[in-house]
Amino acid sequence: MTRQELFDKRVEERVKEELTPVNANKRYDEMLDEVSGEIRIGSITFDASRVLEELDPIAYRCGFSDWLDGAELEEIDGEYYEQSEVDDIKEETENEIEESDFIRICDECGKVMQEGYCIGGGQAYYCSDECLHKATDEVDREAYDIGGDNSDSYWTNWEWSDEWARLME
Ligand SMILES: [Zn+2]
Repeated sequence: MTRQELFDKRVEERVKEELTPVNANKRYDEMLDEVSGEIRIGSITFDASRVLEELDPIAYRCGFSDWLDGAELEEIDGEYYEQSEVDDIKEETENEIEESDFIRICDECGKVMQEGYCIGGGQAYYCSDECLHKATDEVDREAYDIGGDNSDSYWTNWEWSDEWARLME
């Protein structure tokens, strides 16, 4: 899993848990009704949104798409949410990843890892022998003395909190 995938999963999970979806169709209808008012035929009135939807469904749907572009909603897994609320969760998630002391990213392939090489006390991280070998030459590796008694380069595993570890499954 890449950092971006982990980020997206966490955001999606939190959005579903914490936010209430917006009924975008209803909001669009309300906007049409507000702008155009009621349509009166004799003594009978109709909502403008209903008239448009019935008489010109294509214009109704195109109008919906155009309106959606400026509606400040974000679609996640088929539901719409307030953009500003999603943005708050994204910002918090970005900080969580940034400040976490267990989420490590392989400097070679970009994968998120729960175990791997810590090189030079955290100058670099690699998820596997393959990535370590791609990123370093033999001279480097000897200098790092990986796994040596007094070396700050070693293979390790990071203790992930349950809520983050679950996302990796
Ligand atoms: Zn890697």
